[in-house]
Amino acid sequence: MMNRELSLSTFEHAKKIIPGGVNSPVRAFGSVDTFPIFVQKANGAYIYDVDGNKYLDYISSWGPLIFGHNDEDIKSEFIKAIENGITYGVPSYVEVEMAQMITDAYPACEMVRMVNSGTEATMSAIRVARGYTGKKKIIKFEGCYHGHSDSLLVKSGSGTLTFNTPTSLGVPDEFIKNTVVCRYNDINSIIDAIDDDIAAVIIEPVAGNMGVVAPSENFMKELRKITRQKNIILIFDEVITGFRLSYGGASQIFNIEPDMVCFGKIIGGGLPVGAYGGHKDIMGMVSPLGKVYQAGTLSGNPLAMSIGIKTLQKLKDNPKVYEDLEQKAIKLEKGFKENIKRLNLDFKINRFHSMMSLFFTQKEVNYYEDVQTSDVKLYAKYFKSMLEQNILIPPAQFEAIFFNTAMSEEDIKYTIKANYNALEMINAQ
Ligand SMILES: *Cc1c(COP(=O)(O)O)cnc(C)c1O
Repeated sequence: MMNRELSLSTFEHAKKIIPGGVNSPVRAFGSVDTFPIFVQKANGAYIYDVDGNKYLDYISSWGPLIFGHNDEDIKSEFIKAIENGITYGVPSYVEVEMAQMITDAYPACEMVRMVNSGTEATMSAIRVARGYTGKKKIIKFEGCYHGHSDSLLVKSGSGTLTFNTPTSLGVPDEFIKNTVVCRYNDINSIIDAIDDDIAAVIIEPVAGNMGVVAPSENFMKELRKITRQKNIILIFDEVITGFRLSYGGASQIFNIEPDMVCFGKIIGGGLPVGAYGGHKDIMGMVSPLGKVYQAGTLSGNPLAMSIGIKTLQKLKDNPKVYEDLEQKAIKLEKGFKENIKRLNLDFKINRFHSMMSLFFTQKEVNYYEDVQTSDVKLYAKYFKSMLEQNILIPPAQFEAIFFNTAMSEEDIKYTIKANYNALEMINAQ
């Protein structure tokens, strides 16, 4: 057994003074029935814990680190930027440069506002959509995550679209009564839910927060058609997919122009950043230009802008990055599938470009109900076996694994071998 004593004692200490010992729930490793690793340092494709163990990292900070940890170009950009100060509270040129890069890459974004997290981006986009349309309700999809703002922490009651329950205490029913929850990949659920008071539909254009579930092409096309017909703002939450699936994100891959787009993760290069953008008339509602209020002390922070710009610049200059990531994902998928077959198992893998999940279910995974058939206890065993073999995958079944360019062919091969061992162990039990 791997020695993780220092992580364990640090966790015990942390639990006394931080709720659950962590600053974001999934980090507690609770759903995989163990305790977290505490990180000492990270470099390239690897992360090192305080006990000196080294792991191949498939979390990549949940997406931002598309070039892996501590990329040389990004690190030196950061060092250069910090020479000029940390934050100003008045405008700086890098904010304009960042806005230019985002608006160049996403035709739907004629204007963009920087914020500090994906949560802020979606929350603000919804406020703007409501301000612009003068309508109250929003539609979201079961299984999609858009950060932790009140009106988005909703799940639908069993089988009904009308009686919602908050997924969190502290969110009054009144706050979510204007949030309608629909079924991902099911256009009829939208048709049934639409009325004259819907301001916006918000969607992860490729779902990554229920494990990876891609939309059918027809679903996306119809969604765009209906929202346009009914003057409903279509918001793509590209916090994961933006600049990851391709430089123009899911919008480009599906060739669909939403009305607004939300960003986060990659655009900050590893620092806390989000952004939301849209057509000029919509973004013209945002203060001080218009009457929708939204502000931020550290928004457009020069350090975050500098390494965010560097990240986007590197992606723009090396379009092969996307092929490279997808090739890695294809290899891993193929290897995993062969392992599953060799062991006479029947688990499902969803992959869309470089986004990928292994689901512990025999059912094809196209809808949220399918996701729910996954055996999370098996996932926990799988996770722990991978960890023992020095591979860090997301500590929850319903997350995507994230590839980065620092991962080598050898790393992928090793992962396929470890996957075989883990599945074999599960199979034997
Ligand atoms: C991570 C995520 C968010 C929230 O971003 P934070 O920076 O964690 O607030 C929103 N939407 C999607 C699709 C995400 O994956």
